[in-house]
Amino acid sequence: MWVGVGGGAVHPEDFDRVLASWRVALAAGAPIEHEVRFRRADGTYHWFLYRGLPLRDDGGNIVKWYATLTNIDALKQTESALQTREQELVGIIETIPSMLWSTSPTGEVTHISQRVLEYTGLSLEDFLDLGWKRMIHPDDFEDTAKAFFRAIQSGDSYRATHRLRRRDGEYRWYYASGEPLRDSDGRIIQWYGLSIDIDERKRAEDHLRDTSIKLAKASRLATVAELAGSIAHELNQPLMAISANSQAAKRWLNAAPPNMPEVNSAIERTLRDARAADETIQRIRKLFKRESVVKKKASIPDMMTEAIRLVQEDPNKRAVQIDWHFDENLPAIPVDHIQIQEVLVNLISNAIEAVENDRVSPLITIRATETDQNEMVIRVIDNGPGVNDPEEIFDAFVTTKAKGMGMGLAVSRSIVEAHSGRLWAENSKAGGAIFNVALPLSHAGPTTG
Ligand code: ADP
Repeated sequence: MWVGVGGGAVHPEDFDRVLASWRVALAAGAPIEHEVRFRRADGTYHWFLYRGLPLRDDGGNIVKWYATLTNIDALKQTESALQTREQELVGIIETIPSMLWSTSPTGEVTHISQRVLEYTGLSLEDFLDLGWKRMIHPDDFEDTAKAFFRAIQSGDSYRATHRLRRRDGEYRWYYASGEPLRDSDGRIIQWYGLSIDIDERKRAEDHLRDTSIKLAKASRLATVAELAGSIAHELNQPLMAISANSQAAKRWLNAAPPNMPEVNSAIERTLRDARAADETIQRIRKLFKRESVVKKKASIPDMMTEAIRLVQEDPNKRAVQIDWHFDENLPAIPVDHIQIQEVLVNLISNAIEAVENDRVSPLITIRATETDQNEMVIRVIDNGPGVNDPEEIFDAFVTTKAKGMGMGLAVSRSIVEAHSGRLWAENSKAGGAIFNVALPLSHAGPTTG
């Protein structure tokens, strides 16, 4: 719509702005454009887009100004409706009791909800150029960065569990997830993410897991003590009888003349008691066989991190450096979490005990790889003295330690075998021992998860 300049009074709230804009335009002789409310004859104000253009003579002097006024009431209404809607949305986002964020397709932070800023005490600028690193616990950063950039590169969902630093320096556990928003051609235009506080739940779970591992260990130690007592008791009787009957046989043999029927029956009794002792031992062996394990899919790297943490709860076991390398994208495997955890704890503890008095720079390396035989092999490698007999150490009660029980490897092997896996030891060429745990990637039997 074309109207002349000065089509009605300017709204008092717009006056100063319009005047300033005019001053600038007049001084520069440049086109002018602004939004302004004008009063109509009926006294109501309406929004217009005002555009002014200078007309110059041949000498370049301004001789006239042309102006257009376009009614933009409808546009302004839509704009204001959009603003209200945006405010409502921001209100919803800020009231969600979690932290929200968004990033560009390349992973650069574009928005951070107020809660993140309050929690961290940082500003949006602090998050740019990987600045968010400073809010993640140093031990969790590598895994988080891996998961995040893998998602950015592949376009798959992002998931991570990590500790986030609060402004007072305390860390709390968070579960973060991110999803890409795509345009109609499938191109990612933005990533949206949510971080939920799982601190209490995580601590309760950790506590529960610690407790069950300690309980499993305690009950096993109790069983070992009871077992040792009953083995001694059960074997004592036949052994005493074997000894007595052998003495008797010897006496009857040395008699003049030797009493062969008595020798014969003493040997018969000796054989009977030896069989009884053997049966007792077979019964005890059966006790060690684990026929039922409750399997659930679990991530070996997660369990390993957990096992290392448990071992390092013992202040004496913290000094040894532990390096670990896991194949990328290792699949979760069906295991009895508590039992395999116990195997890992045993192997790591043994490795630490093997290196701690032996080396100037003790080192333990842990690797996990997927083989082409549908299994995963976990290796615990140390640079200690190595093992004398790689088979004998798996027998119960074999120990070289002053306070050792000699049960760790026996129990560990029975656990791994109950998972249809294998546990064996070897010496490395560089010196030191390698303990290998091979576990099937999939398994027939009761598996959940
Ligand atoms: P314990 O630790 O109570 O002795 P284990 O069954 O776990 O019982 O270990 C049996 C023995 O195997 C140990 O006493 C030790 O002699 C040997 N052993 C286990 N792990 C290692 C290792 N990493 N390096 C050298 N020897 C080891």
